[in-house]
Amino acid sequence: MQDKYTRFQKLMEDIHDLGKAAGVLSWDRSAYMPSGGAAARARQSATLARVIHEIETSDEMGELLENLDEWKHSLDPDSDEFGLIRLAQREYTRARATPSDLVSRMSETNGLATMAWQKARAENDFAAFLPHLEKVFALAREYASCFPHVAHPYDALLDRVEQGLTKAEVERIFNEVKGPQSDLLHRIMDSGVDLDDSLLHQKFPREAQLAASLEAAKMLGYDLKRGRLDTVAHPFATSFSVNDVRITTRVYEDFLAPCLFGTLHETGHALYELGVPQRLEGLPTARGASAGVHESQSRLFENLIGRSAAFSHALLPILQKYFPAQLGHVTPDAFFRAVNKVQPSFIRVEADEVSYNLHIIIRFEIEVALLEGRLAVKDLPDAWRAKFQEYLGITPPNDREGVLQDVHWSWGLIGHFQSYALGNIIASQWWSMMAKDLPQDELMRAGNITPIREWLGAHVHQFGRKYTPKDLIQKATGGPIDTGPYLGYLEGKFGEVYGV
Ligand code: ZN
Repeated sequence: MQDKYTRFQKLMEDIHDLGKAAGVLSWDRSAYMPSGGAAARARQSATLARVIHEIETSDEMGELLENLDEWKHSLDPDSDEFGLIRLAQREYTRARATPSDLVSRMSETNGLATMAWQKARAENDFAAFLPHLEKVFALAREYASCFPHVAHPYDALLDRVEQGLTKAEVERIFNEVKGPQSDLLHRIMDSGVDLDDSLLHQKFPREAQLAASLEAAKMLGYDLKRGRLDTVAHPFATSFSVNDVRITTRVYEDFLAPCLFGTLHETGHALYELGVPQRLEGLPTARGASAGVHESQSRLFENLIGRSAAFSHALLPILQKYFPAQLGHVTPDAFFRAVNKVQPSFIRVEADEVSYNLHIIIRFEIEVALLEGRLAVKDLPDAWRAKFQEYLGITPPNDREGVLQDVHWSWGLIGHFQSYALGNIIASQWWSMMAKDLPQDELMRAGNITPIREWLGAHVHQFGRKYTPKDLIQKATGGPIDTGPYLGYLEGKFGEVYGV
């Protein structure tokens, strides 16, 4: 059996390496590639995706997995080998269920839809994007139909990024948070308190923003021997190995928050991937457990640390070093209040912590209605405006600040938005558990994040993708996803800031 496992592991290493090579191509496309490279790069990426799919679904892989299945049950379920076979079996089953012509039609449609979306968003022209979006959703339904055992088409799409979680569970979680979050938002809006965030809206030169953000990332534990920071239109973090995890951000010279907090967010993603143990390097298990668990790390570093009162004492001096004229006179308390101003807004990525999940819930409810056929794609702008009025009390003045704002749908990412809200919720679960072991405020105030990172390493990072997200959360917290700590955190922090 050892021979078979060795051969299986070699195939998994090949899949890993080809995936990372595709990642380098995609990172370069966003960060450096001249526009003339687009067509060839799309072809190269498609070739790699096809070769990966061929190995994943090969008869040899099928036979190896069948042979290894019995052996797997003799293994310790916590072993690396068990985790790798489990992951491969899941990927094999999913990939085999999806016809390759559907995969290539999706890839082609997404490529064209992304180009159409960029133009439609720039020109505020939903009608131009509509035929593409109709195709994207039709293909999503076709993809879901490849998994006839699921209770709802959303489940098949959701399972791609959040193994084992269902639409019904997401709905239950969202129903638990949406009432209290709306209520808190209304109390804040009715409080008459208007926090001053003008200190963030000054002239902040680009190079200094990048240098200050990187210094803050280093304070969180980001190591430039194993990473680097670049600028892109839509920031992300990407891992090429457990020793090379890169982050990206974007800069507005008249607004400090996007570059700074975007960097802290991506640093959270990167620290997760960098915290995977060296012994998993080269294997598909050497990455985060799921999109939601990944967001729990990024949101923890961005918000629970980055936007906390305690960490303002450590973060502000870094900013003052780079921006003495703009921020020299600012107190940590004034900075803390400025970065926690609550204001219903149209754009998800700029939303405050109180209203953020409502942006996600709107997208989730719309996706479900579209998949069920209760809503037609052509009626999306109206549905979007109605939901915004209902949940946030504001109506976007145009589609560019409404339904056209996010790139996700044109990429075919349906059943993906929930991960951002789940990340907020799971982050608070880690944080409240950690509070039993560590004096978090004291550490953050001193800028000493190492014990916090080590705690996350021991409870989350070290397992990589060995467990399903549900199993990981169960193991670490002793229970399932729980909205209690998150709602308690929001109420505690913003109740105090706004006196409500
Ligand atoms: Zn993220």
